[in-house]
Amino acid sequence: MRWAVLALSLLPLAAGQSQPPASADRTAELLRELIRLDTSNPPGNEGLVAEALAAKFKPLGFEVDIISTPQPGKSHFIARLRGDGSKRPVLLAAHADVVGVEREQWTVDPFAGVIKDGQVVGRGAIDFKGGLAVFARAVMMLAENKVPLARDVIFVAEADEESQPFNTTWLAERHWPKIDCEFALNEGGWIIKRDDGRVKYVSVSTADKVSLSATVTARGTSTHSSMPRPDSAIFALSKAMARLASHESKIELTPVTRQFLAAVASVSEPPLSERLRTLATSGDAAAIAAADREVSRDPMIHAMIRNTFAPVLLNAGFRSNVIPGSAEATINLRLIPGTDPDVVVRQLQQVINDPAVEVALARPSSGPVGNPPSTEDTDLYRALRRQAQAVFPGAAVTSYLFHAGTDAGAWRTRGVPVYGIYPYPITAAELTRMHGNDETVSIESLRQGTQFIYNTLLDVSKK
Ligand SMILES: [Zn+2]
Repeated sequence: MRWAVLALSLLPLAAGQSQPPASADRTAELLRELIRLDTSNPPGNEGLVAEALAAKFKPLGFEVDIISTPQPGKSHFIARLRGDGSKRPVLLAAHADVVGVEREQWTVDPFAGVIKDGQVVGRGAIDFKGGLAVFARAVMMLAENKVPLARDVIFVAEADEESQPFNTTWLAERHWPKIDCEFALNEGGWIIKRDDGRVKYVSVSTADKVSLSATVTARGTSTHSSMPRPDSAIFALSKAMARLASHESKIELTPVTRQFLAAVASVSEPPLSERLRTLATSGDAAAIAAADREVSRDPMIHAMIRNTFAPVLLNAGFRSNVIPGSAEATINLRLIPGTDPDVVVRQLQQVINDPAVEVALARPSSGPVGNPPSTEDTDLYRALRRQAQAVFPGAAVTSYLFHAGTDAGAWRTRGVPVYGIYPYPITAAELTRMHGNDETVSIESLRQGTQFIYNTLLDVSKK
């Protein structure tokens, strides 16, 4: 009952029903400011973001901590808005660092915070300064509007998510009481919009795939290149790579990925809807394989429903008149939580099927990897679902297995549920620019995302 009352009281904020709070437009301005602080990692320099945020949060009554790391210029930012303590805190985490740029590939300065055709363009617009700006503005609005809170609201701008070693794992080991909470929001799932701008689905990630490195090493005789032998290490490695290139991992669905496929099917047109339903529910191997061939043209779905392996580095030879004795490829494995990496390595070894080629994990395995999915049975997950449906009417809302990694592990390994969202409606085309060139997010999407997260925080923390 209480939820129904709250949901009704929040409806005036829903898209298309009234003007948003004026302060929501300030999200785009904050994002532009954050983009101008170059936090390309390495080295990161996330302290720039921490200082800028401290100047905004302190006057609003937040308790602010800047946590320095051993690396000069690299700091975490933590701000806490006090509630009455009757409920445990909710935490919002956003990484302040970004990946570097290929500057010559950009049509604008990636660190100028340019606005072009209603979009903010710059490194981090999607990943994840856009989300940092949305989370920060939503939390600041609670203070600006003097919302009485039943729980503390904690906002963290993290260092070193795109790198190591001073990330949230480091932070949690040293300052856990400052970031302990009942549940948390982080990056992860998507608000995917159709070409006409309406949101198709909202996916909230409850688990992340796990990234591991494996090496494929081929051996042969090291000798003068004027007398080639049949056992060339480079040829053996090339054949091994060719075999891996034509191999596909089998589909492995979890309850979360089944839910996702069924939810997206419910808002898709035939034949896509039928194919997604077949993947989610069918027991017919031939039908599943046919559906997979079509659906997996979408690299995101392809990656979500299987363990993937991708060659990322090659290393062989040292001069032009020597046949090297070995050749090596590095393979990046992205594994569904619960997978035993040794099993995957054995499968790759079987596919390569050459005694001169060995596959090994870069670091020995200690059994199945990853954290189990965060439970959907929490007030925060229910609030996300309810507010997504209010702000994006007609959209499917589902949990999701995030195909990449995040720094949610610091909380999930301690049993704290973490829900991931890139909190702005986005198209598939915009998604490909993440970590790429001319990364953009629309100002309207930032506005809607701020409204969604603010409504969610009201729902879960208002007294
Ligand atoms: Zn990210």
